[in-house]
Amino acid sequence: MNVTGAPPPRAGEARERHPMIVGEDRVGGPAHAWLQVTDPGTGVVFAEVPQATSADVDRAVEAARESFADGRWRRQTPDARAQVLWRVAELIDRHAGELAELESRNQGMPLSQARSVFVPSAARTFRYYAGAVERLEGRAREVAAPGGRSFHAYTRREPIGVAALIVPWNAPLAIACWKLAPALAAGCSAVVKPSEETPLTALRLGELCLEAGVPPGVVNVLTGTGIETGAALAEHPEVDKVSFTGSTAVGRAIVNAATGNLKKVTLELGGKSPALVFDDADPDQVIPGIAAGIFSNAGQVCTAGSRFLVHRSMHDRVVEGVAAIAGKMRVGYCTDPDVQMGPLISDRHRRRVDGFVQGGLAAGADIVTGGGPMGDGGFFYRPTVVANARADMEMVREEIFGPVATVMPFSDEREAIEWANDSSYGLAASVWSRDIGRAHRVAAELRAGRVGVNVHAPPEITLPTGGYKQSGWGRELGPEGLEPYLETKAVVALL
Ligand code: NAD
Repeated sequence: MNVTGAPPPRAGEARERHPMIVGEDRVGGPAHAWLQVTDPGTGVVFAEVPQATSADVDRAVEAARESFADGRWRRQTPDARAQVLWRVAELIDRHAGELAELESRNQGMPLSQARSVFVPSAARTFRYYAGAVERLEGRAREVAAPGGRSFHAYTRREPIGVAALIVPWNAPLAIACWKLAPALAAGCSAVVKPSEETPLTALRLGELCLEAGVPPGVVNVLTGTGIETGAALAEHPEVDKVSFTGSTAVGRAIVNAATGNLKKVTLELGGKSPALVFDDADPDQVIPGIAAGIFSNAGQVCTAGSRFLVHRSMHDRVVEGVAAIAGKMRVGYCTDPDVQMGPLISDRHRRRVDGFVQGGLAAGADIVTGGGPMGDGGFFYRPTVVANARADMEMVREEIFGPVATVMPFSDEREAIEWANDSSYGLAASVWSRDIGRAHRVAAELRAGRVGVNVHAPPEITLPTGGYKQSGWGRELGPEGLEPYLETKAVVALL
């Protein structure tokens, strides 16, 4: 299997510098250290972003705090805020080609998928929350007061304050929008911190917000490493709320850092999601469905269906079918129009993925197909199916975040549910069966934030996404996705 469509080497190409956004200013100059941004399809550095200093972090948080205090955004009428969010969506659409190119070059995803899925999803998120602004409602009630009098009482939904939005590299623009759109809809001011691996589309999004009419200071975008910039935001006393998407280990660090001023924290963390295939499932539906569930975005999806639990009677057929798809996958550079799978984000990450696969092999698992890096230059990894996996293996317990599926055969429904829930994670799952009663019965028993029936469903903007157990705190998207950015105030008037 060869990598397809790799572009000519671009060594010597000028590296564009992309400064940060703080208030109205573009920040980044000779005094800054500059971080390299790499094209994972070639391994070539093509851009640079500043490493925010601690003074930059303070300035960005101050800009957000000032804009929140003077009410330049939160006091605008809901109608006015909705119109601005709608304009952000229109600008994302207008610049869709440019955003898709930036996203796929920086993240490695096929350009066709950036165009058809990730950039449209970003615009749709802004439209969805534009629609939600005017539906933020409190409740009125009559309450008995002492002395035979009564209270007129009502609740108000108010923005929580300054929100730090910390974003990972696997779907950088879409996930930034899943946080920023509801934060703005609620009336918050924000500091966005994209991953140091993929900062470019978040910076462009910040520019588009300003162009759409979000007042300066309400959206600030800081670039820098997690350990410096992310950690400084998580512990900053003037930040009221952190919304974080990333690994479970960093999620824990953020919770600890947030204790100083007890800021509210939402966490969207890792997963190890099972796909449960029963003996009555339709193989023609299951095989492409679970293959898509693990190989999309090269397995770099938090909800990827990485653990196949397959009824014994279906095991060999499913393993052969998925392995055949994996073996024929077109793996290559993002601009190849036929490419189905891109590279992993970095060589470091690829070595980590391969470490899990080699560890599984050493522990007695069998590689049916794939297993190992491919191509020169870019960080490609072979779509991999591993049979004879056991529940005690690290590759079955830990999130690999790469195109690697493990398969375990089960004997009955009880065992399938028990194995599916035998994980510290609980982000997603899928149930494959033609028995409608079984599908719903099993869906109810699975400890996961999203369960697909005959589909390993990706996140959907109108539905909440998030994790049980160590996969997170709270929910993003859907009406639930607004809640983390809102406080509820009760106003009580003596009549
Ligand atoms: P990561 O945890 O390494 O980094 C995520 C973000 O946190 C980056 O912006 C990083 O700079 C920052 N960061 C790192 N250390 C920090 C610290 N100490 N304090 C504050 N911020 C810090 O994750 P990643 O490798 O970028 O992304 C992959 C992970 O994200 C996977 O585990 C995946 O499952 C998870 N993820 C979860 C969801 C979900 O919805 N549950 C969605 C996408 C990705």
